[in-house]
Formats: sequence, structure tokens, C-alpha cells
Amino acid sequence: MRRIGKKQLLWLSGGLIAVALGLKWTIGDSAAPVAEILLILSSILAGWEIAVQGIRLLFMRMITIDLLVTLAFVGAMMIGEYVESAAVTFLFLLGHYLESRTMERTRASIQSLLSLTPDTAVVSRNGEETVFPVNEVVKGDVVVIRPGMRIPVDGLVRTGHAYINQAAITGESEPVHKIEGDLVYSGTLVDSGYLLVHAERVGEDTTFSRIIALVEEAQDRKAKTQKFLDVFAKYYTPLIIVMTAAMYIFTRDLEMALTLLVIACPGALVISAPVSMVAGIGNGAAHGVLIKGGDIVEKLSRINVLALDKTGTLTEGKPKVTSIRTEGAHSEDELLGLIAAAETYSEHPLGRAIIQEAVHRGLQPLRVPEHTNIKVGMGVQAYFEGDRQITVGNRALLSAAGVPLKSCMETAAAQLEREGQTVIFAAENGELLGYLAVADQPREDARDLVLGVAKRGVARTVMLTGDREGPACRIAELVGVTNVKHSLLPEDKVQALRSFQGDRSMIGMVGDGVNDAPALAAADVGITLGGAGSDAAMETADVVLMSDELGKLAYAITLAKTTVVNMKQNIVFSVLVAGLLVAGVLGKMVFLTSGMLIHELSVLLVILNALRVVRLKPKPKVVEH
Ligand code: ADP
Ligand code: MG
Repeated sequence: MRRIGKKQLLWLSGGLIAVALGLKWTIGDSAAPVAEILLILSSILAGWEIAVQGIRLLFMRMITIDLLVTLAFVGAMMIGEYVESAAVTFLFLLGHYLESRTMERTRASIQSLLSLTPDTAVVSRNGEETVFPVNEVVKGDVVVIRPGMRIPVDGLVRTGHAYINQAAITGESEPVHKIEGDLVYSGTLVDSGYLLVHAERVGEDTTFSRIIALVEEAQDRKAKTQKFLDVFAKYYTPLIIVMTAAMYIFTRDLEMALTLLVIACPGALVISAPVSMVAGIGNGAAHGVLIKGGDIVEKLSRINVLALDKTGTLTEGKPKVTSIRTEGAHSEDELLGLIAAAETYSEHPLGRAIIQEAVHRGLQPLRVPEHTNIKVGMGVQAYFEGDRQITVGNRALLSAAGVPLKSCMETAAAQLEREGQTVIFAAENGELLGYLAVADQPREDARDLVLGVAKRGVARTVMLTGDREGPACRIAELVGVTNVKHSLLPEDKVQALRSFQGDRSMIGMVGDGVNDAPALAAADVGITLGGAGSDAAMETADVVLMSDELGKLAYAITLAKTTVVNMKQNIVFSVLVAGLLVAGVLGKMVFLTSGMLIHELSVLLVILNALRVVRLKPKPKVVEH
């Protein structure tokens, strides 16, 4: 009996049962022997696989439902209840079949993601366009991308421009305009335009492949409740066997004992938690929110303190340079150019903004430092040819470098800070060169988020920032965060988080993966933004918002809460059904076939309930005026 498909097996055993029952009803008792043979055939056909599976797992020291069903159908055959034995195996297989069909739909989000990677790529080598299987494209190839195509690699746009739908990565459905020098991602779709892309990452290294790998890992990482249920099931199933054996010894009612055996197995209970989690995590992934495991879903649903980094998290992280003051030796543009050059290797949003300003003012090409020391949470020190050391950063960095501030400059800087601007000082070989003031705007959706999380059970929001009091308070006021902790070094942020830790606290921390990594790790749930653009952001956090929309966090919390509620509904429901069934068996109201039917139905209902989580959608972005 080599590999008949599941479906054929179902039809076959179901058909045999139907014919057998049909014969019995139409012809009556004289057909009974034929009917019995058909039923025995059906039982063996369907039961064979179940028995093989059950015994195989028994050898691996696992007592599973397959084994229980095997015992039940063999038992039923021994006492001559062929209808029962055929029905039990048939229903069990049917349940399994429907279960895997529906289960696939809860995994649908990740399945639909997988289908987004193209199989081939058009590569231009030596001026000739050739179609290659995507796994033969190498780093450095120039890939040709036309409208309607899925991009096969991560890369930089070399020529052309296009509107790209990045929903596969970020969950945003608005197309993004990409021009020369922009990064494009594998798996995203070109709406219109034509691009030549320089492949930077191919195959398994692409952001998209890593998202899929992370989601798959996440779906296997179990929630606390889930772990508990697993342990429970491990002891529960053998216990049932012992109980039914005891029951048979006392009552001598084999049929009742067998029924108990079948219906008491925790089928629905075992899948109740994972099925909701898989649905929740998959839904998140489809909308640009990576939640790295069932345990994180549970924690995220219970967040009541939310700490937020300022620069780049609550603010856009694209500060405008508002004023430049030099100490005579340089012009304003020269100072800006020098600071921008020093920031070349900085990943800090302030550094990037300064470089942009310099480029914007036409100060290219910038010199490139020989090497840079990044002083996390303070600034940078860059070394240029001929022993030039340029220090760029806040007061703390300057005083650490032994650069004194002149008192009139100090007064002017302090005034700017009171107005809410961030002042960045620059020095060359210990000599102060001047400063540059920048003002950052809060993100459009920051205020909504702060209000939104309050509605979702977050009692307290706190800003943690390395910046000074003035700018910190200005932004806090604008976005509605009431607690502010300023002038913190990255390790101070960890201390600040500890101060909020209490018995019932569940602390979420939103920050960037670069200099907030310690705080992200110290919080119960570390959350980063813009994961698509930063490896560090994707690796360090528990929850990654792939797009740069802070507002997605509200959806993420709602999703986590919905998922956990869904899981609890499933658990309560399956325990109730199991309890009622046991009572029914003991009260002689539930028998083998009906028990099996109800059991399988309850499994299906649990999966159908989880499908509701698959359908949850983030609220569309509302632009308020
Ligand atoms: P936040 O916590 O608000 O994100 P950071 O801890 O990243 O702030 O930085 C704290 C302060 O250190 C900044 O306000 C700025 O003054 C200074 N700083 C950090 N990195 C840089 C940099 N690359 N260039 C200039 N100044 C910097
Ligand atoms: Mg920051």
C-alpha cells in the first residue's frame, strides 16, 4: 500500500463505510457479513497509517493521540464493533486532513511572503542582458529591473528611477520613489519605472530572506502558556491510558473505556496556543511588524511602561541645521564641511543629517577620515591625514577630550538649548572651532502613538535621551510624553529602565539598534523602527517595525493583545469541551463515534477561531490637520 494520498485514503475508507451501511439498511441482516468485511477493510485502511505513526512515536518515547486512537480502534474491532472502529479511524483522518488544510491558512501570511521572491533575474554583464536563475546572481552584478517585476536582490540604484511598492518588507502600501543611490530590497515590486541595480546582497543574505528566517524562528519560539501546555500534554496522555485501564478493570465496560481513551486526548488543547501564535506572528510579518516569538507576543500584550528614545524615534531624526557659529578661523561652510567629513562613518541620525546638509549646500566632495572613534551617546572623533583630530559632539565629549568652552560661547549655546535646539560642538586638536545648532521635528505620528498606547494599557510613557534638558523637554511637550530623563549615556538608559521595574511592570523600550542596544536588551520588550534599513535594528530587538512608521507600534500592541485573547479563548474552549466529553462518557451519553466527531469538531473550531487573528488589519494611516 505505497503512498496513496491522504485524500484518496479518505475517499476510500469513507466510501467503504457508506457502501457497508447502505447494504445493511437496504438488504438488511443477510448482507451483514459483507458489510462487516467492508467495515473491517475500511478500519484497517485508515487505521494502518495511524497505527504506524503512533507506534513509531512510541519508540521515540512519545505517547500521542495516534497511539490512543490505535488502541481504540483495535479494541473496537476486538469486541466486534466494526462500525465504531471504521468510524473512529475515518473521522480521525478526516479531522487531520481538515486540520492541515485550515492550518495552512493560518500560516498563509508567511506562505504569501515566500511566493514573493522571483526565480529569475535579468543581469547585464558586458553590456548583454541575460536571464539567470536568481541563485546564480552574485554580489556586484548589475540587475535590470522593469515595471511589474519583483526585485531579486538587495542593491543600490545605479541608474534610473522608479516607484516601488515595498509592502513585502515594510507593510506600507504607498509606493516609494527611488532614485540613483537609493537602496532597493529583494521581494519588492516595481510599480513604474526602470532601474539598473547594483547587487549588494543576494540569496539568503537579503533583508527579505532574513525576515522569512526570523519569522519562521519566531513561530517556533514558544509562549510561556504554550510551554506549560506542552509539559501538561506530556503527562496527561499517559495518565489517560492508566485511567482508562483502571476504569476497565472496575467497570468491565470496554467500550466506555475505549471511548474515554479517544475523547480525552488533548487534541484541541495542544494546538490551541500555537495556532493563535502562528496566526498572530504571521499577520504581523505581513504588515511589516516582526515579533520574534510567542513569548514576545505575550509580553507585548502586557506592556504598561513604554520608554522611548528621542532622536530618531520620537523625532524624525532628520534635524535641520538652524545656525552655525565659528571661532574665526573657518567660514560657516568650511566648519559644516569639516563636521560632515568627521561624521562620515557615523550611523547616528544627527551625523547623517549633517552630511545631508553639507551635500545640500554643495560642499562635496567631502574628505574621508582615516579612521573614526565613535563615542556612543556623545559624538565622534575623526582622524585625518597629517595628524588632524576633529572632535564633534556634545559638552561631555568635549570635556572628556579636554577642550574648554569659552564663556560667551557657553552662554549662547545654553540659550539655544533652552529654546529646544541641540548644540553640537567641534574642535580640532583640542582647539574649539565652533558649534552647529540643529532642531529636530517630532514625527508626525508620535503624538498619536503616545495617546494610542495609553488607550492600550500603557500607564506610563517616558522619554530617555542623551540630549540636554532643553531639546528633550521641547519634544516631550510636543508629543505628550510626561516623564523625561535627559543627558543619559547609553548605560544610564539601562539604569533608568531599572528604576521603572516593579512587580507588575512590563517595560517596552523603543530605540535605535545602534546606540540603544543595551537599553533594548534590558527592557522586557525591545522595539526598533526602520528595521528594513538597518541590520543592527533587525538583530537586536524583540519587535521590529520594518517601516519607519512609529504608528505601527499601536497596531503591534493591538495584534499582540488580540492574539493572546484568541489563545485564551482556545484554551478555555478546549478544556471545556474535553471536560464535557468526559462527563458525557461517564454518563453514557457520548459514545465512540460521537465522541470522536465532537473531538475533531472542537479541533477545527479552535483553528477557525485563530483564523480571525489572520484577518486583523492595521488601521489605515490618518493624516490629521
Ligand atoms: P538620543 O538618546 O536622544 O537618541 P544619543 O544618545 O544618540 O541621543 O546622543 C546623545 C547626544 O550625544 C546627542 O544629543 C548629541 O549631542 C551627541 N551625539 C551623539 N552622537 C553624535 C554624533 N554622531 N555627532 C554629534 N553629536 C552626537
Ligand atoms: Mg537615538
